[in-house]
Amino acid sequence: MPSLISPGKIHRLELENFKSYKGHQVIGPFYDFTAIIGPNGAGKSNLMDAISFVLGVRTGHLRGAQLKDLIYAFDDREKEQKGRRAFVRLVYQMGNGSELQFTRTITSAGGSEYRIDGKVVTWDEYKARLKSLGILVSARNFLVFQGDVESIASKNPKELTGLLEQISGSEELKRDYEQLEAEKAVAEEKSALAYQKKRTVVLERKQKKEQKEEAEKHIRLQDRLKKLKEEYYLWQLYHIEKDVTRTNEDLEAEIKSREGVIHELENFEHEASKKKKEQAKYLKEIAQCERKIAERSNKLDKSQPELLKLKEEMTRIRSKIERTEAKVPRWQSWRTRSPGVWEGGD
Ligand code: ATP
Ligand code: MG
Repeated sequence: MPSLISPGKIHRLELENFKSYKGHQVIGPFYDFTAIIGPNGAGKSNLMDAISFVLGVRTGHLRGAQLKDLIYAFDDREKEQKGRRAFVRLVYQMGNGSELQFTRTITSAGGSEYRIDGKVVTWDEYKARLKSLGILVSARNFLVFQGDVESIASKNPKELTGLLEQISGSEELKRDYEQLEAEKAVAEEKSALAYQKKRTVVLERKQKKEQKEEAEKHIRLQDRLKKLKEEYYLWQLYHIEKDVTRTNEDLEAEIKSREGVIHELENFEHEASKKKKEQAKYLKEIAQCERKIAERSNKLDKSQPELLKLKEEMTRIRSKIERTEAKVPRWQSWRTRSPGVWEGGD
């Protein structure tokens, strides 16, 4: 059946010492429908094995315990010989008529070597190239081996499902599917956890938002308080400044008044010194007067005995006068009128 991806086909097979095919053998060209017929043991199945082998089917699915068993050997002695090699080359014809050669070789060491158009490649590259042509090796959906039809007919539904999975290629994806399913379960668990976490985060976020709003309000109020304090201190400063100005004015007035008082005091002092001078002058005069008084008093004291003498004399004279008056009565009326004064001496 032509491939949906690439309308190519197997053009021919080149075999060298593969199983019952001794030496270099070219089988083909194949057509859209080719039947191979032959007696039992002719090598029909070996051809299917050759196709399977060159397309990279694992040894376990080939009829042979190990790769070396696939190398042509006439008998057991030949099997033991060293340096034996075999290969199968599949010549694939592309839709445009160009050819692509896939070669798998059994090396003398007993391993596999893959080549595309004669160039050695890794198994992965080889498989990828086959896949690009729509040949899924592991699915083996293009090979129907001897007995396969009978085997399929006798399969139970579960086995048939397995077979369908195999030939559709979904078996290859089973492990990936199971792994992905496990990953999905883990992811769902993680998602549930993440959702729970998200809810917690949303709740925390809400709380934090409230806290943030409260903090912002607090900051706003603090700012307001700061401004009010500033205003209050400015108000205080204004009044202090006013008080200072008033006090300075008072002080200036006081200074002026003090200057007036000092001036007055100076005047008084000046006056006082003038008065002191006057006082000194007066004291000096007083002292002089006192000295004079003392002198006069002294003089008086000295003149006292003479005064006494005079007083005695006066008393004596008076008594003489009295006696005389008694003798002369006319004199009495006159004396009464002007005592001490008389017209003539005694
Ligand atoms: P049938 O109609 O019975 O299915 P067939 O055509 O499919 O027969 P195959 O199974 O292809 O026959 O071929 C089997 C023959 O291949 C056997 O004769 C076997 O000895 C031979 N053979 C298998 N492996 C080797 C080998 N390594 N070297 C030589 N001959 C081999
Ligand atoms: Mg057969």
